[in-house]
Amino acid sequence: MQQITSFDPEILELPFYEDRHRRLAEALGTWCDARTDLWDEVRQEDPEKAGLRLVRQLGEDGWLAFLDPESGAEGLPGDHRALCLTREALAYAEDLADFAFSIQALSATPVIRFGSDAQKRHYLPRMATGSLVGAFAVSEEEAGSDVAAVALRADRAPDGGYVLNGRKAWIANGSIADVYVVIARTGGAPGALGLTAFLVPADTPGVRVGRRLDALAPRSFAHLDFEDCRVPEDAVLGKPGKGFVIAMDLLERFRMTVGAAALGFARRAADTALARARTRSMGGAKLIDLQLTQASLADMDVQLNAAALLVARAAWEADRGSRRFARHSSIAKLHATEEAQRIVDTAVQLLGASGVVKDSVTERLYRQIRALRIYEGTSEVMRLTIAGTLDTRRAARAARDI
Ligand SMILES: Cc1cc2nc3c(=O)[nH]c(=O)nc-3n(C[C@H](O)[C@H](O)[C@H](O)COP(=O)(O)OP(=O)(O)OC[C@H]3O[C@@H](n4cnc5c(N)ncnc54)[C@H](O)[C@@H]3O)c2cc1C
Repeated sequence: MQQITSFDPEILELPFYEDRHRRLAEALGTWCDARTDLWDEVRQEDPEKAGLRLVRQLGEDGWLAFLDPESGAEGLPGDHRALCLTREALAYAEDLADFAFSIQALSATPVIRFGSDAQKRHYLPRMATGSLVGAFAVSEEEAGSDVAAVALRADRAPDGGYVLNGRKAWIANGSIADVYVVIARTGGAPGALGLTAFLVPADTPGVRVGRRLDALAPRSFAHLDFEDCRVPEDAVLGKPGKGFVIAMDLLERFRMTVGAAALGFARRAADTALARARTRSMGGAKLIDLQLTQASLADMDVQLNAAALLVARAAWEADRGSRRFARHSSIAKLHATEEAQRIVDTAVQLLGASGVVKDSVTERLYRQIRALRIYEGTSEVMRLTIAGTLDTRRAARAARDI
C-alpha cells in the first residue's frame, strides 16, 4: 500500500480491517493529500460558506454516496470502520472537511436506520450528493448531557400533524442546513419515554435560525427557534415515543467516530512535532537528540497507538453486530479525545512560540480538538456509561479474593 500521510499503515494491516477498508483509506488519503489548495481556501472563507462548499465537494466526489443505500455504495449502517477511517483522514487534512462530512452522516443516519421508504426516497439521494444539507438537533440549553430532559414540545394539531414550540441549542450546521432531525417531546410520558423524532425542512414556517454562535473553531453553529411550527404526520421519523431510542442509537454509533476524528487531529500534531524536533537546532544538537524530547515523542506514539486500536476495536465490534459495541464506542471516544488533547498540547510545547501563532497547524489543532471532549457525550458521561457496563461476573469471581 502506498504511504498515505493520514494513516498508520501498520494499524491498517491489522485483522480488524478488510481489504476494502485499506482501499478506502488509500483512495481517501490520496484525495486529501491532493487537495491542499482547497484546505487553504476554505480556511480563509466564511465558515458557513466553507461548510456548504465542502458538503457539495464531498458529495460530488462520491464520499457521501453511502448515505443513499439505494446507490449501491458501501458504508453505513453496516460499516463503522469505513466511517471512522473517513473521519480520521479528513480530520488529519482539515477540520472543516471532517465537520462537513460528519454532520451530514450524523443527520442522514437516522433516516437510513428509521426512515419510511418515502422519507428515504425524499431525503437520502440529495444528502448523498451533498445538494441537501442536514443537521441533528437534540440539545437544548437546559438539556445537554441529560437528553431525557428535552422540553421542546410537539403537540398534536387538531387537524392532524404536530405543532412544534421551543428551542434547540448548539446545533452544528444549524445555520446552513436544509433539513433538521429534531427530537421533541410528545404526549405526557415522562423523561425519555415521551420523546419523538421529526424531520423538519428548514423552510417550514415557524422554524428559524436563532442566535449564531462563534465557537473556538469557527463553523456553522447556531440555536434554532420553533414557534407554532406545523409539520405533517409523516414528518415523524420512526415511531412516536421512540425519539430517545433513535437519539441514543445514533450517538452510540457516532461516538467512536469522534474518537477517530480526534486520532486524525492528534496524528497531525504528532507529525508536526516530530518534523520540528528533527530540524530545530538546540545547544549544538537537534531538539530530537535530547532525551526529554524523545520521551515526549515516545509518549505521543504510545497514546496514538492506543487510541487507534480502541477506535478500530469499537468499529469492528459494531460491524460484527456485538451487543456491547456501545461500551467500546464510549471507551474509544473517551480515550482518543482525552489523549488527543494531550498530544496536541505537547506538540504546541515542542514547537515553542511558533506553536501558538495564529493559523499555524498546531494553533489550529489546539482550538479544534477541545470540543470533541464535550459533544456527543462529554468525557464524564462516557465514564459513567463505561462504569455502567462493567462485567459484574468478574467482580463475583474476584469477591473470593477479598
Ligand atoms: C462544537 C459542538 C457541536 C455540537 N453540535 C451539536 C449538534 O449538532 N446537535 C446537538 O443536538 N447538540 C450539539 N452540541 C451540544 C452537545 O451535545 C452538548 O454540549 C453536550 O451534550 C453537553 O451538554 P451541555 O453543553 O449542556 O453541558 P452539561 O450537560 O450542562 O454538562 C456540564 C458539565 O457537567 C458534566 N456532567 C453532566 N452530567 C454529569 C453527571 N451525571 N456527573 C458528573 N458530571 C456531569 C458534564 O460532563 C460537563 O462537564 C454541540 C456542542 C458542541 C460544543
